[in-house]
Amino acid sequence: GGMHMLKGKVAIVTGGTRGIGLAIVEKFLENHAAVALAGSRQETADKAVAQLRERYPDAQIMGIAPDLSDTAAVEAAFQQVKEAFGHLDILVNNAGISQRDSLYNYDPADFEKIINLNVNAVFRCTQSAAKIMKEQGGGVILNTSSMVSLYGQPAGCGYPASKFAVNGLTKSLARELGKDNIRVNAVAPGVIRTDMVAALPEEMVQRIASTIPLGRMGEPEDIANAFLFLASDMASYITGAILSVDGATIS
Ligand code: NAD
Repeated sequence: GGMHMLKGKVAIVTGGTRGIGLAIVEKFLENHAAVALAGSRQETADKAVAQLRERYPDAQIMGIAPDLSDTAAVEAAFQQVKEAFGHLDILVNNAGISQRDSLYNYDPADFEKIINLNVNAVFRCTQSAAKIMKEQGGGVILNTSSMVSLYGQPAGCGYPASKFAVNGLTKSLARELGKDNIRVNAVAPGVIRTDMVAALPEEMVQRIASTIPLGRMGEPEDIANAFLFLASDMASYITGAILSVDGATIS
């Protein structure tokens, strides 16, 4: 794209190595942000960065892989990004996992694992980024929620519980951090055509699509466009919003 909606901005995107996070990284690079993508391992982060450098040779991009359950590691990685790129304007808390076991089969350790990444890591990353942003005079924090944060889902209760918590953090921190010129918003994707969906038989994809009012699944780029808007100055009076990008799906 020929737009420069994030020119001069620096962003960190967690879970930026693939899927929705990678689409957000691409969209931000196309709009001239400097981007640090965070992966769960340094090798996968570096690999994603190497591939992006081929497609965006002029872009400022780096790969980080802090353990998101370790506050000191997150703080050090975010400082490293600030030192490399000069400041930190946008944090996208996108890393997340899901799980669909029924309550009776649910391993409590899996429940904790989901909460640890989808909630506790969002808190931790947000705290580290907000300290930097406050000192700088402002910033934007964006979270990947889900449509299940509105309706729950009929199996796998940990995942919707975690996304309800993400909405709670979003709305509360929007109110708390407005005075520091930090906006906090979330995007709630519907069914998005990522690797997981791409592996499904076409017949099943069609069946799912037929239940969606807009008649198709979402593409990662549909989600990335919403993040771009919320990250940009066009959304300068929007905070505390949970923006559904789901084709009006109710599942
Ligand atoms: P994905 O599995 O393709 O990517 C997940 C990303 O999270 C990867 O980059 C991975 O490196 C990172 N990650 C996983 N575990 C990690 C850990 N322990 N520490 C650090 N990073 C870790 O997932 P996706 O479908 O692109 O999902 C991204 C976000 O979108 C998640 O928060 C998910 O809940 C949300 N979401 C996805 C859909 C969908 O249909 N795909 C729908 C609604 C919401």
